[in-house]
Amino acid sequence: MAEKQSDKTPHILLFPYPSQGHMNPIIEFGKRLISKGVKVTLITTIYISNTVISHNNDTTSLEIQAISDGFDEHGYAGASSSDDYLKKFKEVGSKSLGDLIKKLRSEGSSINAIVYDSFITWALDVAIEFGINGGTFFTQACAVNNIYYHVYKGLIPVPSVSSVSVPGLPNFEYWETPSFVHNYGPYYYPSWTEIVFNQFTNIDQARWVFTNTFYKLEEEVIEWMKKMWPMKVVGPTLPSMYLDKLLEDDNDYGINLFKANHNEYLNWLNEKPKGSVVYVAFGSNAKLGREQMEEVACGLNDSDVNYLWVVRGEEKGKLPKEFVELKTEKGLIVSWCKQLDVLAHESVGCFVTHCGFNSTLEAISLGVPVVGMPQWTDQSTNGKCIEDIWGVGVRVKADEKGMVTRANIVSCIKEIMDGERGVVAQKNARKWMELAKEAVSEGGSSDKDMDGFICDLKQ
Ligand code: UDP
Repeated sequence: MAEKQSDKTPHILLFPYPSQGHMNPIIEFGKRLISKGVKVTLITTIYISNTVISHNNDTTSLEIQAISDGFDEHGYAGASSSDDYLKKFKEVGSKSLGDLIKKLRSEGSSINAIVYDSFITWALDVAIEFGINGGTFFTQACAVNNIYYHVYKGLIPVPSVSSVSVPGLPNFEYWETPSFVHNYGPYYYPSWTEIVFNQFTNIDQARWVFTNTFYKLEEEVIEWMKKMWPMKVVGPTLPSMYLDKLLEDDNDYGINLFKANHNEYLNWLNEKPKGSVVYVAFGSNAKLGREQMEEVACGLNDSDVNYLWVVRGEEKGKLPKEFVELKTEKGLIVSWCKQLDVLAHESVGCFVTHCGFNSTLEAISLGVPVVGMPQWTDQSTNGKCIEDIWGVGVRVKADEKGMVTRANIVSCIKEIMDGERGVVAQKNARKWMELAKEAVSEGGSSDKDMDGFICDLKQ
């Protein structure tokens, strides 16, 4: 039986899309709200609850409730395709979310708001049905949201074959727009395309529009979006101990969908000289082709630097044989790590990333210069921002077949580790790091937007 809350304590439900990159920002948002006196319930799927959360003690500060996505036994892996998953998630999830609201209410819990991932627009329909205010939470950059909005409005043709111009941003070459806008390549999933463009279908009914970015990072585009929607800019949503250090226990996102052997890579990093290690990771979803894996492996080897490379279990089979269990003085391959611990480690001097938005914000917030190697979705746009707008790194260049050669990887790593561009990127990254800390610290822009949200809840 849920504890009866005081009449004055606002209670919100947080509903992230059930993947690592989407859960992390909303979990941290929740922890900040708890520290400000809000009661928070995190909604996840029965599968994640049973397989991950029940085996993990880190998540105690968030109360968790599980709903069905239609794949209780195997999660996403149980679906025949992403279309199958997303369709069932909506069908079964809507009903299950409604049942949860009824259950919580019958236990005496009032619910002041539901904040849902902008990919799950149907959660707002459920909230409205129950007379609850809804807030959509964009986990991607405002630059990306802005481009999607213009596609949604029919102002950018898809597929885009020429440069794109939207308010608050410089021109983007067509290949710098998100992959759903310009490229029907190997990552083309019709249902994902629909999801990203349709984030705006019911946005005008949302009481709040949250984004995981910070004001100074995307000032112009945020100002433009503010004219249309009640924006709350609340990022970067890294655990507090990596930013303002206000929440003493908050040093990890808390829900890890992948397993890691932390001692192994931390010990390895501890033995390396300051700034000497290239950290390589492509997030929780990207799938590199076999040939591309070989180019990355040989590029790292040829770079003559120390490198720590995350290759998820299901990707390992594509590695050249000699790299599969690599653990040498110079190189270590692991299947997952606590990325924040790694980026914050003094031996790390450069981050080769797929430019997922969490990874991008983490690099910026920890002052680590970047080599961007975008794969799909918003990553090409984040890569453009990394290099040309925020000035924190360089991007690799794919050849006409979409392949990034080992020689190109070597030269990008050298530029950042030894070249003038690395010096500038590091200087810029450190500047953004200070501004990120300022935004989330007491009285900073993100902190104020969070307080504004809490004020709204109390009215
Ligand atoms: N991450 C991690 N360990 C790893 C690789 C990634 O903890 O070995 C985390 C990373 O810190 C980030 C998230 O997983 O918060 C990945 O999100 P991102 O948006 O960068 O990429 P996605 O996985 O959504 O493609």
